[in-house]
Amino acid sequence: MEENTPSSPLATLRPHHALCALFFEGKGYSQVFIENMKAFLADPTRMLQITSGCDALCQACPHNLNGLCDEETKVSLFDRRTLNLTGALLQAEQPMPLYEFCQIVYDGILQQGLLAEVCGECEWAKFCQGKWQKRDLNHSMLPYSGIDSNGG
Ligand code: SF4
Repeated sequence: MEENTPSSPLATLRPHHALCALFFEGKGYSQVFIENMKAFLADPTRMLQITSGCDALCQACPHNLNGLCDEETKVSLFDRRTLNLTGALLQAEQPMPLYEFCQIVYDGILQQGLLAEVCGECEWAKFCQGKWQKRDLNHSMLPYSGIDSNGG
């Protein structure tokens, strides 16, 4: 839905959505949301900028009410925890590719066993935690991590 061409504005992503990107497998809040998510994740090299508000994924979400998530208090907390656990790496206003963003979150949160601490209150939490236990995640988001298909 959103493209990164030289003439288009930079895509935005909220910090905790790197985790959603790593565990997405075609499920979501609506068909429109799912299609937008698929299109967004199709290019891990897409350049983006971190945002604290509604982002490129929120654009197509039924929970987005006039540019504000109807669970803003909760999702803002997920974002703050993500930022806190990744140190200064995501603080920069410097644009970065989607895969780098996911790698930072993978290293700082998943590999440290902190997934539940970031978004344990999310309705999808058990689903993602179950996938992480099996190291079942979107490896296309981590092209340079060196992990194999078993996540090892
Ligand atoms: S639930 Fe909220 S934060 Fe998540 S995609 Fe929808 S609008 Fe965005």
